[in-house]
Amino acid sequence: MAPGHGGVPLLKRAIVEKLAPMGVNVLILEVNYGFAFASHPELRHSDFSLQDARDLAATCRQHHIRLIPMFNCLGHQSWARTTFPLLAKHPEFDESPEVPKDNKGIYCRSWCPLHPDVNKVVFPLIDELIDAFDADAFHVGMDEVFIIADPGCPRCKGKDPAEVFAKAVNDLHRHIVGERKLTMLMWGDRLLDDKGLGFGYGKWEASENHTAGAIDRIPKDIIVCDWHYETRAKGYPSVAYLQQKGFRMMPSTWWNKDAALAMLREARAEGTERMIGHLCTTWVGAEAFCRALLDDQPPAEPKPKSKSRRGGPTQNVAALKAGREELRKD
Ligand SMILES: [Zn+2]
Repeated sequence: MAPGHGGVPLLKRAIVEKLAPMGVNVLILEVNYGFAFASHPELRHSDFSLQDARDLAATCRQHHIRLIPMFNCLGHQSWARTTFPLLAKHPEFDESPEVPKDNKGIYCRSWCPLHPDVNKVVFPLIDELIDAFDADAFHVGMDEVFIIADPGCPRCKGKDPAEVFAKAVNDLHRHIVGERKLTMLMWGDRLLDDKGLGFGYGKWEASENHTAGAIDRIPKDIIVCDWHYETRAKGYPSVAYLQQKGFRMMPSTWWNKDAALAMLREARAEGTERMIGHLCTTWVGAEAFCRALLDDQPPAEPKPKSKSRRGGPTQNVAALKAGREELRKD
């Protein structure tokens, strides 16, 4: 996750002292609204500046790390009670305006991909991030979109969720790949028909909300990040499936080391030239992750709750190191 302005030196240290020597060659930085946008100052959610972005990009370039900015598109427009700036400032873009303002009863809000003006606001934000990081690839997020073709949206009501999801992907692709000539990355969960394909991933890591038909309606030059964070009795059949569908893909893991190694080993066994790398996610603030990585006053680990499946940043770093060792084996 992108730090604030004050966290940039620590992230640079982690890149130079740890990530680059480990052989990490791509850093995907989730920025979202955490940037001092000039095109839409009202949507700024952080003091991370243009200079900070240039500074980080230069550090990465010096150390042969490709920095790919990420902006969560479509879904993840709120978290718990907080609605993020786009929908807070532009409630007309909200896909589910009927949901109470405190977001009670939902996971995350989505924007409406059929609203005629939403891309006029979002594309300048994406352009600013592309230019600030001088990026040659861009990650559009698009995971865990549960609110889509919502009955409360006058434009999307009654439409096929797969068609609506594909339109959102294709609009972004036209801009990012077609006009800006970058490579586009996205999460894969909404493209996997969990029941139809018998994957057994469930409704988070795969789709049970009728979006998966989009997989045949979007360009094959998108890199799909296929995230699965737990050990699976049936293994990880989506790894082969996405390659068979013609996509380049990256198996994407998290803090659970056993699950990460299981997925990585299966991915390597089934990898074609389309399996282009291993993505180790962190899902923790930059500072906590960097401190754990640098072994520098590691933050207190969250006390595991009985039902919690989350690991702390120290476990996350251990999973990253284990993945690197696995890749060094041959
Ligand atoms: Zn809509």
